[in-house]
Amino acid sequence: MVFNIKILGCGSATPTVRRNPTAQIVNAHERHILIDCGEGTQLQMRKFGVKFQKINHVLISHLHGDHYLGLVGLISTFALLGRKKDLHIYGPEALGEIIFMQLRASKSYLTYHIEFHSLSSDKSELIFEDDYIKIKTIPLKHRVYCNGFLIEEKPLPLRLNIHEVEKNNIPIAWYHRLKRGEDYIKENGELIPNNQLTLPPYKVRKYAFCSDTSYLESIIPIIKGVDLLYHEATFLSAEQERARQTFHSTIIDACTIAKKAEVNQLLVGHYSARYKTTDDYIKQAQPIFKNTTPVEDGDEFSIDLR
Ligand SMILES: [Zn+2]
Ligand SMILES: [Zn+2]
Repeated sequence: MVFNIKILGCGSATPTVRRNPTAQIVNAHERHILIDCGEGTQLQMRKFGVKFQKINHVLISHLHGDHYLGLVGLISTFALLGRKKDLHIYGPEALGEIIFMQLRASKSYLTYHIEFHSLSSDKSELIFEDDYIKIKTIPLKHRVYCNGFLIEEKPLPLRLNIHEVEKNNIPIAWYHRLKRGEDYIKENGELIPNNQLTLPPYKVRKYAFCSDTSYLESIIPIIKGVDLLYHEATFLSAEQERARQTFHSTIIDACTIAKKAEVNQLLVGHYSARYKTTDDYIKQAQPIFKNTTPVEDGDEFSIDLR
């Protein structure tokens, strides 16, 4: 029951040698989801060992180049690799036009089908759901229409209390029924209540990705209590005015949101190219939200079961 996040790019508009523009891979229950796809993302995928064929869902936050210019290249590579499975892409309306226009112009024929899911709501909406996970949008405030994404598990089943299960010689065939909450009935009709044989389920795990945005308190109810929050922090506190003008956040903004939303851990990135190290990010974050980690390309984080 894996739930982890790999950072493929944590730079902002101008790519640097050290940092690619935004892209991340989330693996939740073996659903491999690419979030944003800045220029060069497919090279980062090669560099960090991401399996191309495993990706079935791509979520694009907004149409600034540093968040999607790598997408058409990646789509073409999928075809060169002979992909057959459908690819689901979620993003602002115009993204569909951009992709299909580029493919048409180059007379590219894909070996697979792209299902484009157009996003236009300014309210949080459920955009994907299967037996194991759900994905919702997190409407953000930026110079263009922009969403973050919340990826969360579906509630997990009860856990077997192995000690009690073995003591009572419960047949294996019953295990899935116990996990669903049924009481055990012995052959002689005697009943063992479910709560004697099971333990509470693990807590549902949640990851929130908040792309480019001004400081925005309306996201707090959506991301409340998530295990891991990625929030952009383009600037240090001295550039607060610049952050306001460009609809970006400072490290102070990101930490304040993390604190108010009572998240467990905060990851920050999307650094302005002017910052060579993240030392000052750590310094400024500490007094507000201690569990803050400035990310770098290639970093991996996993959310453990609790
Ligand atoms: Zn950006
Ligand atoms: Zn942007």
